[in-house]
Amino acid sequence: MKKLLDIAAEIVQAQASVGLMSAEQIEQSLIKTFSTLQRIQQAEDRGMLLEGVPAGEISSSQIVGEPIQSIQDDKIVCLECGTQMRQLTTKHLGAHNLTPREYKRKWGFSMKQPLSARSLTKARSKAAKKRGLPEKLVKFLEERKQKKLETLATSELAVEKAGSGASVKKTVRAHTTA
Ligand SMILES: [Zn+2]
Repeated sequence: MKKLLDIAAEIVQAQASVGLMSAEQIEQSLIKTFSTLQRIQQAEDRGMLLEGVPAGEISSSQIVGEPIQSIQDDKIVCLECGTQMRQLTTKHLGAHNLTPREYKRKWGFSMKQPLSARSLTKARSKAAKKRGLPEKLVKFLEERKQKKLETLATSELAVEKAGSGASVKKTVRAHTTA
């Protein structure tokens, strides 16, 4: 992502190129543009622009409203007891005498809804996509990994051989015979 200042500079440059601006005007325009961009970014960071739900409201421990709000970027909140975790496990739901299926039905989740933090779900689907890569690419990556491992193994071996192990043994033997 571009830095805010870079973006602001570009905007002001564009403005300056069409009209005659004094150095002072350019400076003021830059400050103004920068602070506006900063405000937008701060709003974005707080999640204000995400799905129209202010993040501040969701992050309170008590979830009120839609069950789907219990699934957040970095955590999922158990709607039965309010515990926050990365993943709502079968074991945890068992404590409420629920299976994941029953839990989803009870709270109106789609059966496809993963009961884990969004970031975790994203990471998983990324891994799944990687598995779905064209065969050739996967093979290439595997080969590269293999080569790396081989190089690592040989260098470790070399270290072992060159290491003090052998010479220490020799010295010990020399001592015992002497
Ligand atoms: Zn619970």
